[in-house]
Amino acid sequence: MSHTERTIAAHPISPLSLQPCAVVGDASDPLLSRVYPAPARPSRTSFQRDRERIVQSRAFRRLAGKTQVFTSRASDHFRSRLTHTIEVAQIARAAAAALGLNEDLAETLALVHDIGHPPFGHAGERALDTCLQAHGRRFDHNLHALRIVEHFEQRYAAHRGLNLTLGVREGIVKHSRDYTADQHPELSPYFLDRRPPLEAQIIDLADEIAYLTADLDDGVESGLLEISHIREHVDILARCYLIVEQQHPGVEEKYLFNEALQLMQNVLTDDLIATTRHNTHAIGATCLEDIRNHPARLATFSPQAEAERLQEKRYLYETLYTCRDLEIEHDKAEEVVTALFNYWIAEPEELPPAYFEEMQTEGLARTVADYIAGMTDAFILLQYAQIKRTVRR
Ligand code: MG
Repeated sequence: MSHTERTIAAHPISPLSLQPCAVVGDASDPLLSRVYPAPARPSRTSFQRDRERIVQSRAFRRLAGKTQVFTSRASDHFRSRLTHTIEVAQIARAAAAALGLNEDLAETLALVHDIGHPPFGHAGERALDTCLQAHGRRFDHNLHALRIVEHFEQRYAAHRGLNLTLGVREGIVKHSRDYTADQHPELSPYFLDRRPPLEAQIIDLADEIAYLTADLDDGVESGLLEISHIREHVDILARCYLIVEQQHPGVEEKYLFNEALQLMQNVLTDDLIATTRHNTHAIGATCLEDIRNHPARLATFSPQAEAERLQEKRYLYETLYTCRDLEIEHDKAEEVVTALFNYWIAEPEELPPAYFEEMQTEGLARTVADYIAGMTDAFILLQYAQIKRTVRR
């Protein structure tokens, strides 16, 4: 890390701010270390540079063609994994700013958080994991994201991967769960026995806030959910709806619903900010080490918001994610992923030559899974159609 890179400007710290516990990102911060030396860019901080590397990566662009929840093209208004990612980044950056944390790190981690997802959303991930289990391996989108940024992106002459800072790579691994060193010795550089910084901890919750809001919105847009039914079963939305109804009497339901969704997103974001601040002050944390050494994550919702989050999540599972229309899409996704996986396992010479080298080191099953995981929905369907024609001939 160069000493000429920009560092965070110092300003007076409010007693409520968690800035003393933030990732500092100054010249002496070991979280800024990169595997390969990188020339200095005095105009940007290291995390801003990582944000650029991620936004300019191929894997990031492919998020535009990957399903968030709805694979069908029945509406132009559904979220893709890219627009979901941008929504998470907004929430994460706002929460980090309100808490006095490192905004650049939080935003960068949000932008990269879903980069390891295969096509067809969670159905695609489940299918790929099932395929790999038959070969004694597993598919995990966090670990796949790390492989993307460390190996698959090829933008630099001197090395493979994006050469991101240690802080961003740790956040990619740990933003949504913890791993143990005995199960994942390859992750040992990422302080596995300690908690991640708050900037990484808030990503998982920003993700929750984004999709809890968006999936109600897209669910209604799809015609699979009804506003009146949501109001009966999702307490937090019902409460927000009542407030906006009183503020805007006589206004059409669709506008009230939009207002209620925005209010719900704000309520959850404010709760995350207040509860994380409260938790951190309650343990007397005064530096990043205190965050890392605490046995539990400190970025949480309050008990009430957590209960409402779980209630809404259950509702989405029961009424949307597992509804008949989406299950048909999930079955199709499973069929496509499984057929292609089995095809390349049987015909490895049909893989693109760029994958032959990986096959030698990682084995065939992992290589095929890596190839499939990188695909967009449209590209995998094209592969499927071509291979079906080949097999028929
Ligand atoms: Mg996400």
